[in-house]
Amino acid sequence: MEHQRENLTVEEAVRRILLGCSVLPERAVPLRDARELVLARDVVAGSPSPRFDTAAMDGYAVQHADIRGATLERPVHLGIVGAGVAGDREITPVAPGTAVRIMTGAVCPEDADVVIPFELVESRGDQIVVSQSFAAGTNIRRTGEDIAVGSVVVERGTVLGPAHLAVIAAEGHETIEVVPRPRVAVIATGDELVRPGQALEPGQIWDSNSVMVAALVEQFGGEVVMSGCAPDEPAAVLVALRREAAAGADLIVTIGGASLGDRDVLTELASDVIALERWSIAMKPGKPLVYGLLDSAIVIGLPGNPAAAFVSAVQFVRPAIVTMLGQLDIDPPTIVARTLEVIPNQGGRRNYLRVMLEVDEHGYVARLAGPQNVANLATLSRADGLLVIPDGVEQAEPGERFEVQIIRSL
Ligand code: AMP
Ligand code: MG
Repeated sequence: MEHQRENLTVEEAVRRILLGCSVLPERAVPLRDARELVLARDVVAGSPSPRFDTAAMDGYAVQHADIRGATLERPVHLGIVGAGVAGDREITPVAPGTAVRIMTGAVCPEDADVVIPFELVESRGDQIVVSQSFAAGTNIRRTGEDIAVGSVVVERGTVLGPAHLAVIAAEGHETIEVVPRPRVAVIATGDELVRPGQALEPGQIWDSNSVMVAALVEQFGGEVVMSGCAPDEPAAVLVALRREAAAGADLIVTIGGASLGDRDVLTELASDVIALERWSIAMKPGKPLVYGLLDSAIVIGLPGNPAAAFVSAVQFVRPAIVTMLGQLDIDPPTIVARTLEVIPNQGGRRNYLRVMLEVDEHGYVARLAGPQNVANLATLSRADGLLVIPDGVEQAEPGERFEVQIIRSL
């Protein structure tokens, strides 16, 4: 059967895919699960931080008026009248002429306005001897000086990192409204595929793409809800697609069977059964790509060769996931690096080369990580990044600079 293929650039394909992607509806999740997610609503401080005037050092709480004039020649003697540690509900008040032994994090007694660190004071039995002056407020963290009630502590739209989570926890929140992770099903197709750990028959290989694409999906911020293999049977693949769409997947990523060979199962799925578009992208590795909508799920069909599957996942699956996550910056992290070798680029396709990165005195240097064959997994596993040679460049010369998409920490 002849299938119509549309020729697209990478940008045009991404644009079309994103037309079908929207930011997922916000949901409350436990703080512990919110890392790297986008905050859906401003978090406003309902209580001050610190919550009470707090000792910032281990030492003695005293009244400033008592020690204002203290010098080596005219030391001040204060009687120790109590002690307090972090967590104590009440601390002995500090009356004129007295001091209270106090530890970091303890409530600072109301009348005290200086905490003198142990190392700057001499203790003699039940007295301390102060022989220098301290400014009022020294070593006391005042109520609300860090976060005032009513202030916005984290703005909506923020991608939550560890410190954001801390500041939200410090406000006492257990859960937080975020854009949740898209649910992503990963379906590898191929009669030759066997799950790693199981015995191979002649002609079979272990499925290495499922775990790779599932791991990529998680790096992009998605939640893998299913990962497995389907045979090269259109009916079986259709059943799997429908099952995952019905189960609530936001995105279904298939791997393999997207080209024009015999038994290319995604290509064979008849268009009157499911609306899938077949694209030919001006890129290398990769080229065939399948795209469609099924119920509320987006379907992206990646090519099966490992390097093509990887590079296509970075270009097409990542933007879909980060868009659903509500992130505004959809481009993968890139740096600029120099090449050291001549790299031919025939064919008018954008070339993504698997490279290793180093730094010298002029900046990043990219070296080919090995043979760039689309099936070569060893090269892929050595690569730090994808050096992008534009389609118009016929040959990269040593010393030329190109963008490199970082793939170690996407
Ligand atoms: P396809 O895109 O299905 O024509 O597959 C292209 C090449 O990639 C073939 O050599 C397949 O055996 C291989 N391949 C496809 N899917 C996988 C997979 N999940 N794991 C490892 N290799 C695969
Ligand atoms: Mg196949």
